Amino acid sequence: MMADGETARVRACLGGFRWHGLECRPYKEEGDAAFRNISRQILFDEPAQDCELRYFEMGAGGYSSLERHQHTHAVIVLRGRGQCLLGTTVRKVATFDLVTIPAWTWHQFRATDAEPFGFLCMVNRVRDRPQLPSESDLAALKSFPEVAAFLSS
Ligand code: MN
Repeated sequence: MMADGETARVRACLGGFRWHGLECRPYKEEGDAAFRNISRQILFDEPAQDCELRYFEMGAGGYSSLERHQHTHAVIVLRGRGQCLLGTTVRKVATFDLVTIPAWTWHQFRATDAEPFGFLCMVNRVRDRPQLPSESDLAALKSFPEVAAFLSS
């Protein structure tokens, strides 16, 4: 028996990493963080589950915001390749790689190819607001040459 609020359904994939009935939204509603050429689709957001599953996709030159927060992310790359900043390291990631982002870990994803770079990201439905780096946080991150090169790419 289904609990109240759950709807049994199949959403057809339309191709091109789009799904029937799902809006392709801006990456974030608020405009206080720097990001570029990135979209968001919310695939699952059921009150009976404590998580949301989103699909983010960035085009060439795209990147997500550089941030950290109490809540964690579980990321599965679905399309293309890119790089991610994880704390003070930069890692290359490609299709089907899994990325774990613990609490309070600086993170940012960047497309590195001319092709789209897309990933699933699972998060808690109720979560704290991301913290953006201060000038001193940025200076500390940039003291790592690999991170400085990533942030200026
Ligand atoms: Mn985040």
